[in-house]
Amino acid sequence: MSISEKLLPFDVVPDDRALAIREALRNAIVDRRLAPGTKLSESEVGSLFEASRTVVRAALQMLAFEGLVKTERNRGAFVSNPTPEEAHQVFASRRLLEPGIVSAAVERITDADIDMFRHQLQEEVRFMGERGPSARRAEIKASGDFHLMLAHVSGNVILQRFMDELVARSSLVIALYGSTGVSRCGHHEHADIVDALQKRDAARASALMLHHIDHIEADLDIRVREGLALKDALDI
Ligand SMILES: [Zn+2]
Repeated sequence: MSISEKLLPFDVVPDDRALAIREALRNAIVDRRLAPGTKLSESEVGSLFEASRTVVRAALQMLAFEGLVKTERNRGAFVSNPTPEEAHQVFASRRLLEPGIVSAAVERITDADIDMFRHQLQEEVRFMGERGPSARRAEIKASGDFHLMLAHVSGNVILQRFMDELVARSSLVIALYGSTGVSRCGHHEHADIVDALQKRDAARASALMLHHIDHIEADLDIRVREGLALKDALDI
C-alpha cells in the first residue's frame, strides 16, 4: 500500500473499476439479491469482476463508509443487517438534519432548481406504476435522489455528505423492513415540499419535511424478525 493510500483512505479518487463494483454491489444489496449478513469475500468478488483485491477492497471500503457493508477484523466484509434500533437511529438523524437542510435550500433555491425538482417528481411517478425488482430499485433511488438534491441546493457540502450516507442507509432499511410497494417516499409529500420551496416558505417546507420523514418511518415494519430469508424467497 502506498503512503498516500495509508493517509487518505477515503479521499483518494477511487478508480472506475472500484466505483463500478461498488455500484453493482450497492444495487444488489438494495434489491435484496444479496441478503443481509452475506459474506463478501474479496477473492470471490474479485474473480466475479475480474478485479484485483486492492480494487475490491476499495469498493468494499466505500460501501462500509456508507453503512451498507460491515467489516469485521479477521472475518472480512458482510452485507449490513441493520437492527431495528439502528433503523430508528437513521430516521432520528434525518429528523435532526433535513428540516435545517430545507431551510437552507429555501435561502438559495433558484427558479431553475424548482424546474429540476418538478422534473424529478415526474421521474418518481414513472417508476411508481411499474413492478419488479428493477422498478423497485429505481423507485427507492428516485425517492432518495429528491432528498440528495435538496442537500445539494442547500450548498452545505458537509451536510451533503451526511445525507449521502443517510440516504444509502435508508435505502437498505427500506429494502429490509418495507413491504414491497408500500414503504417509499410519498410522491404527494414531495410535491407539497416543492410547492413550499417555490413560495420560499421555509417554515412550511421544514414542517412538511419532518412530517414526511415520520411518514416514511411509520410505513415500515421495523421489528426483530425471524425468517427473513423465507420472506425474501416469497417476495420475488
Ligand atoms: Zn422523500
